Amino acid sequence: MANVALRNVQKTYPGSVEAIKGISFEVDDGQFCVLVGPSGCGKSTLLRMVAGLETITSGEIDIGGRIVNQIEPAERDIAMVFQNYALYPHMSVYNNMAYGLRNRGMPKGEIDSRVQEAARILEIGPMLDRKPRQLSGGQRQRVAMGRAIVRQPKVFLFDEPLSNLDAKLRLAMRVEIRKLQRRLQTTSIYVTHDQLEAMTLADILVVMNGGQVEQIGNPLAIYQKPVTTFVASFIGAPPMNLIRLPDSDVKLEAAGVEAGILGIRPEDLLMSNDAAPAGGIVLDLNVEAIERVGAETYLYGVRTQQGDTPAVSAKPGELPPGEILVRIPGQSGPAIGERIRAVATGEKLHLFSADGRKRINP
Ligand code: ADP
Repeated sequence: MANVALRNVQKTYPGSVEAIKGISFEVDDGQFCVLVGPSGCGKSTLLRMVAGLETITSGEIDIGGRIVNQIEPAERDIAMVFQNYALYPHMSVYNNMAYGLRNRGMPKGEIDSRVQEAARILEIGPMLDRKPRQLSGGQRQRVAMGRAIVRQPKVFLFDEPLSNLDAKLRLAMRVEIRKLQRRLQTTSIYVTHDQLEAMTLADILVVMNGGQVEQIGNPLAIYQKPVTTFVASFIGAPPMNLIRLPDSDVKLEAAGVEAGILGIRPEDLLMSNDAAPAGGIVLDLNVEAIERVGAETYLYGVRTQQGDTPAVSAKPGELPPGEILVRIPGQSGPAIGERIRAVATGEKLHLFSADGRKRINP
């Protein structure tokens, strides 16, 4: 058991690629930390630095009160689970799990009890004699986790472990990983580009962009109060509507600061014929496309009011310019071509500075 602290960690690859631009955060003992962000934001680099597979250009990484910058991966007391499992194809499931322990010279009896215990936890006991090719993707992923568990490390590191699995299996394994981590209470750092995986697994979520941290915190707190438009559009699916506010229109402001961008989550827009609720907003829309996904319906509307401005472009998951997404429960609702009015109350509005780098309202 250990906490992990990163203190102003930087990484510059040869050729002056500044992959990590000074990152600090701490994961408490037993916590599940998820690093999330788009491809290329530096998640894997950061994880590999914690693992010791990548050198640190500057800063400090501390595992359980010990600075590990100069410590070999094998001596860091971590275990890593990769996306491609990296199982030895010619070895049985048992030997795949036992291999690392034998290399450390652990007594045979101890190895056997650890492998049996991991197999029991992961429910792969009947498969111990099989080779990896005789297993399904999900079973292989469990063996890969078993190999990490038998080490009884201080920290688990997961590098997109579910990305090779189909959607249904991903969901099942996601729930299993979370249950397993709660049970073992091993400090974990998990890398993914999937915001849903991040939201559901994390005790502490680190949203990264361009080698920097955009926001750190409890996943729901981040969902409720994203501090930049990047986080606002990255966390939550479908993504938040972002509307650039015109200079001339009625000003939206908070604490005396004028907002440049207004954010409204699709689920916070309600269909209504009423005027704007106090402090809220009204959007008159022409419905141009409809997606019915079963439990809910997504309406893509274009604002019809004169003087309306296009939605700002905010990668990733951006909405096309001018389009507003309204998410309504169930399968009924308007037809294509209909005009609707969507309203949001004041407390559902997210106000950002014109550059999107700062949240203005509390
Ligand atoms: P992510 O895991 O978020 O997709 P990475 O950590 O893999 O991001 O990469 C972060 C940045 O560092 C990217 O711009 C990538 O091109 C660059 N990078 C990664 N590995 C190397 C390397 N070995 N040499 C040079 N640049 C690298």
